[in-house]
Amino acid sequence: MRLKDKVALVTGGARGIGRAIALTFAKEGADIVVADVNLEIAQKTALDIEGLGRRAMALAMDVTNYEAVEEGINKILDKMGKVDILVNNAGITKDNLILRMSLADWDAVINVNLKGTFNCIKAVSRPMIKQRSGRIISIASIIGLMGNPGQANYAASKAGIIALTKTVAKELASRNVNANAVAPGFIQTEMTAKLPEEIKKKMQEAIPLGTLGTPEDVANVCLFLASEESRYITGQVITVDGGMVMA
Ligand code: NDP
Repeated sequence: MRLKDKVALVTGGARGIGRAIALTFAKEGADIVVADVNLEIAQKTALDIEGLGRRAMALAMDVTNYEAVEEGINKILDKMGKVDILVNNAGITKDNLILRMSLADWDAVINVNLKGTFNCIKAVSRPMIKQRSGRIISIASIIGLMGNPGQANYAASKAGIIALTKTVAKELASRNVNANAVAPGFIQTEMTAKLPEEIKKKMQEAIPLGTLGTPEDVANVCLFLASEESRYITGQVITVDGGMVMA
C-alpha cells in the first residue's frame, strides 16, 4: 500500500482521468474526496471507492469560485481530518482559432484550468504548511509545452499551470510540500472521444509509441508523485504522451 491512510482531494474526479486517479489512489490505501461540478457522477465514483474499502466523500465544488473551494476544504478537514494530496485535474476545452475565439471562451478556460488550480493550491496550502507535509499534483498538458492551433486559451492555461507549479514548489519546499505537474498527451476520454476520426488518426500517427494513452497511464504517474517514492522530486513536469514531446 503506497498511500496507506493518506487523504487525497481530486478535482474533476467524477469521471475521465480524475476518476482513474481517484480509484488508483484508493487501491493503494488512500481515502478520497471526489470534488466536481457534477455531484451526481461524483457520488457514483465515491460509491465505487467505498467498494474498494476506503472512505470517500463526494463534494460539489466549482474550482473557479474561491469561496466555494475554501468552504470545501473546511468540510474535508472536518470530515476527513486532513488533506495530504491535492490533484488539480478539473479542466475544460473551448477550442477555436484566435480570430474566432470569443472573449468568453478565453475567460472560461483560463478560469477553470488556471485560476481553478490556483484557488485549490491557495486553499490547501495553509493546512499543508501546518502539517509540514503535502503533495500537489497538477494536470497540465503537452499542449502547454508545445502549443496547438485552435487552443490558445487551453495552451496558455496549461503553460500557466506549469509556471505556477514551479513557483509553488519553490515557495513550499521548506515545509516539505512537493508540487509537480503531469503533462498528458492524447488520452482516451470523453474529451478526446468527441474529436473527428480523421484527426484522431493523424494524432495516432504522431505518437512514437503508436497508440493513445489511457487514464490509468496518467493515474500511475500521479500515484508515483503522491507516494513516498518521489520525495526528492519537486517543481517538475512529467509527460505521459507515448513519446510525442521529448525534451
Ligand atoms: P473530462 O472532461 O472527462 O473530465 C473533467 C472533469 O472535470 C469532469 O467531471 C468535469 O465535470 C469536471 N469539471 C469541469 N469544470 C469544473 C469546475 N469548474 N470545477 C470542478 N470540476 C470541473 O476530462 P479529462 O478526464 O479528459 O481531463 C482531465 C484533465 O486532464 C483536464 O485538466 C485536461 O485538460 C487534462 N488533459 C486531458 C487530456 C486528454 O487527452 N483527455 C490530455 C491532456 C490533458 P463536467 O463534465 O460535469 O463539467
